Amino acid sequence: MPNENPIFELRTDPIVGRRVLIAEDRAGRPNDFLAPEASREDASTVADCPFCAGNESRTPESLLEVAGETGPWQVRVVPNKYPAVTLDPPLASSRPGTPLPGIPPLGTHEVFIESPRHVRDITELSAAELARVLRVHRQRLHDWSADERIRQVIIFKNVGNPAGASLEHLHSQLVALPEVPAVIAAELQAGHEYHSAHGECIFCALLRDELADGRRLVASNDSFVAFCASAGRQPYETWILPREHYASFEQLTIEDSESLAALLQDVIGRLQAQLTPLAYNLILHTSPTGQADVAHYHWHFELVPRSTQLAGFEWGTGMHINPLAPERAAARLRDVA
Ligand SMILES: [Zn+2]
Ligand SMILES: [Zn+2]
Ligand SMILES: [Zn+2]
Repeated sequence: MPNENPIFELRTDPIVGRRVLIAEDRAGRPNDFLAPEASREDASTVADCPFCAGNESRTPESLLEVAGETGPWQVRVVPNKYPAVTLDPPLASSRPGTPLPGIPPLGTHEVFIESPRHVRDITELSAAELARVLRVHRQRLHDWSADERIRQVIIFKNVGNPAGASLEHLHSQLVALPEVPAVIAAELQAGHEYHSAHGECIFCALLRDELADGRRLVASNDSFVAFCASAGRQPYETWILPREHYASFEQLTIEDSESLAALLQDVIGRLQAQLTPLAYNLILHTSPTGQADVAHYHWHFELVPRSTQLAGFEWGTGMHINPLAPERAAARLRDVA
């Protein structure tokens, strides 16, 4: 159905200043997304899935295992079999004459297997199970924060093929790095400048503005708020922030893990009702190690559904084109019963 009053606007991300073109069109293109995958059969475990209970020998030995009420374990953390970084890197290859020889890819790369059952999204876990997964994330963040080689921990989840998932069994990943990557460095810099000028956290200010404005709110509870990003890069890009100021995800309490689990399941359920099948990246941005108490950073999730492909314009400019206005996206998500 054609959109009424389609929005064409060049917008600026309120934190890092990234530009996004909101370019709705009358043909209703926002609904014309990637074709659904073939439907898959249901089974509690799948014989050839390396993450299912019973197939533990097909993954590296566990770094951490959380016992479950049913079955041998509920969450397993294992080293990534195909890591992007390693704490034991081979010596950098330096070819004479190359201006920028490679440096060793130092870091660590872990996988969290979030259920012994073959489930595909967090809505198939109980709220208590998801809360426990979040506490395992917090635990590994805490463990790596004590390692002086590590400056930044990033935790993320890829769900569905268009989001880069190679296995459908519900899992997430942790990468610990010896330096703060550019995206988080830009947020820290913006937070630092804003705090110097206004004496306040830029994310706390953004949250207050979004709550007052209301047009982009998706869902909330006593501890967390989800809203569509005003300069979202993809349709339905949603940010989730704690209402209180916390710089590090390490500060998540048990009660917080339960209300965060409930809100994440609520938001993913709403997205599933709008985008079938739902593919997304869920990214945790938390303060660098040793900066758990800073006033100028505020941990958050960026949830980016992947329904449109990045093409030449995006690769060539770093600027995204979003064919669904965040205000319209939020209204649709709020309308899900
Ligand atoms: Zn499986
Ligand atoms: Zn804050
Ligand atoms: Zn962020």
